[in-house]
Amino acid sequence: MLIEQPFGETLDQYFTDDLVKGVVLTDALIGTFSSAYEIQANICFLYHLIGNGSGEWKVPKGGMGVLVDELYKLALDLGVEIRVNSKVKSIKAGQHLVEIVLENQEKLTGNFLLSNAAPQVLAKLQGDTPPKSLEGSQIKINMLLARLPKFKSGVDAKDAFAGTLHINETFSQLEKAYNQAKSGVLPEELPFEMYCHSLSDPSVLSPELSQNGYHTLTLFGIHTPANLFDEDGEKIKQLAKERALLAINKYLLEPIEDCLARDSDGQLCIEVKSPLDLEKEIALPRGNIFHKDLSFPFKEDDSTMKWGVETAHPRVFLCGAGAVRGGGVSGIAGHNAAMALLELS
Ligand SMILES: Cc1cc2nc3c(=O)[nH]c(=O)nc-3n(C[C@H](O)[C@H](O)[C@H](O)COP(=O)(O)OP(=O)(O)OC[C@H]3O[C@@H](n4cnc5c(N)ncnc54)[C@H](O)[C@@H]3O)c2cc1C
Repeated sequence: MLIEQPFGETLDQYFTDDLVKGVVLTDALIGTFSSAYEIQANICFLYHLIGNGSGEWKVPKGGMGVLVDELYKLALDLGVEIRVNSKVKSIKAGQHLVEIVLENQEKLTGNFLLSNAAPQVLAKLQGDTPPKSLEGSQIKINMLLARLPKFKSGVDAKDAFAGTLHINETFSQLEKAYNQAKSGVLPEELPFEMYCHSLSDPSVLSPELSQNGYHTLTLFGIHTPANLFDEDGEKIKQLAKERALLAINKYLLEPIEDCLARDSDGQLCIEVKSPLDLEKEIALPRGNIFHKDLSFPFKEDDSTMKWGVETAHPRVFLCGAGAVRGGGVSGIAGHNAAMALLELS
């Protein structure tokens, strides 16, 4: 992590408890609309620390696309038939079979159904009442840069963006932002962090772009719950973008906008995604990146579940983030759903 030193402050003044606590707190908040003092933040923090037993995070070289390509090849070798752009309209689970109807009216039947759509989505498709959950609360700004910007402090952008760059994320800024968002307004000092994936792994870009100094830059803003975007989502997205770019530009010699690449229509390569966009595009309920409230990653003592993937219907299983020890890219729910099924057959 790099911490920029604003002009006029000494490092002693800057490295305060507030700052260190804030950096730790961000791991408890990513995608979670919660105060530092609430249980959801604690659970989210736990999830950030249990990966691979030590909290170590791993990213696939070449990006998620490479991982998906490999899974795709493996599935084809195993005889799996894959359909894309096949939106499910309804699911009817009977005593012996499960039937699904696609939006194009096509019907498919099988002995079991494993669903990685969110539990709320699954419930609606089955005609049931969706379980309640907190809404998503992140704003995502994705950029393609034609060149990396220069920092006022003289630090090399390659160092600044090598890890996670935190902006407006001291403990007090985060709590203030939470309280402002809770009262229905976009945080004035929008807290966010930035990652430049192409620096750690140039293969996420084509060789042509990579060799010519292009970089991906992504910004994850927090404490922006879905309800802020209900009334005039586009206006709030624009405001969030302005606040985020203004905040990063404070540290740069040239505005980040000047470093953005342009697409074939001459438009700046920058996009903003609110929680509502994520609901519309990939069916995340109210933009909740974890599908539903994170629960502790173990079964409660009174739970009748065995694998944490069971639903009210014995032929329907969750295999995604909504299962117990779901939330995030772990693959555990998929494994557990497969185990539940193997035991049955
Ligand atoms: C911006 C962002 C950043 C994130 N960062 C991280 C991170 O750094 N680390 C991490 O671990 N996790 C992160 N997550 C969370 C992680 O992406 C999710 O937890 C993970 O993708 C869940 O996988 P899944 O397979 O359970 O569900 P999903 O990836 O949500 O897949 C569900 C699929 O079901 C499809 N679907 C829904 N309804 C229907 C229907 N009616 N018919 C057909 N298909 C349907 C959807 O289109 C979707 O493809 C992030 C999420 C977001 C949005």
